[in-house]
Amino acid sequence: MDPKLPFIDLHRHLDGNVRLQTILDLGRKHNIRLPGDTLETLRPHVQVDGVMPDLITWLNKLHWMIAVLGDYEACRRIARENVEDAKAEGLDYVELRFSPYFMAGPNKLNPGKVVEAVVAGIAEGRAKTGLKVNLIGIISRTFGAGAGLIELEALLAQRAHLVALDLAGDEKNFPAELFVEHFKRGRDAGWAITVHAGEAGGAASVWAALQRLGATRIGHGIRAIDDPRLLDYLREHRIGLEINLTSNVQTNTVPGFAAHPMKRFLAHGLLATINTDDPVISGIDLRHEFMVAAPAAGLTAAEIAQAQRNALTLAYLSAEDKSALLAAKA
Ligand SMILES: [Zn+2]
Repeated sequence: MDPKLPFIDLHRHLDGNVRLQTILDLGRKHNIRLPGDTLETLRPHVQVDGVMPDLITWLNKLHWMIAVLGDYEACRRIARENVEDAKAEGLDYVELRFSPYFMAGPNKLNPGKVVEAVVAGIAEGRAKTGLKVNLIGIISRTFGAGAGLIELEALLAQRAHLVALDLAGDEKNFPAELFVEHFKRGRDAGWAITVHAGEAGGAASVWAALQRLGATRIGHGIRAIDDPRLLDYLREHRIGLEINLTSNVQTNTVPGFAAHPMKRFLAHGLLATINTDDPVISGIDLRHEFMVAAPAAGLTAAEIAQAQRNALTLAYLSAEDKSALLAAKA
């Protein structure tokens, strides 16, 4: 990676990135029986080791991180710790995303209050570290269109504290078409749109995210590689691709790093970037993705630097903020 360019993560789930120690602490505090009571006995239940059969099996690893969110203070804590960890990792800017309905579920919290708590935790983290952070709200497809409306309302109540709206979860069984109205309201609220697509679903799912939901960035977008017309469209319209190399291997979205289309995306002139997805679940950090995963996917130093430049281009920041990030590295 190029030390003269900002070190940026555009795709990181704060509810997929809870410290193991925090899971233990919160489990104790809220009397939630965990499958392990030390870091090492808990780790295999939370962290992926190797390749899972598919995305949904991989997503099950999120279970314990969410099960321990016993109150709003817990939500605030994990948000704050995500900012602290991003700073400790050496990031210059991070966009953190979360699904309040998903976080609220196991302990029957109120999704609106979950959003308030996350916004407060991010503000605390910012004040403590000075790190530049933006927040993205997620609608979880997995719970259907009705729950999606509750989730959307919860996010809209804090609209000024969010920069974008995302759609995540079970892409196969809950297509973009179910969420057209949700995303129209998100755009009307002034949010940018990024959508998880082309991960468990095919190129058609990416087209739907672009044409039905108004996405200008795509989370993953791996299956775009199957559709030459889509590749051209992504380039012409400067649509961003938030790539997560290790996550894509672990969810069996690609059969290995060498088969990952990232290098071909960059060769096609697409705005593809390198991100983490869920660092604790994957057992990685952004440095690992740049230093280990990207070379394993065949990227040269020049291509890795291009991915860094692409992240700055795509960041949900003003031109002034982007210049300031660059100037700080010079
Ligand atoms: Zn993701």
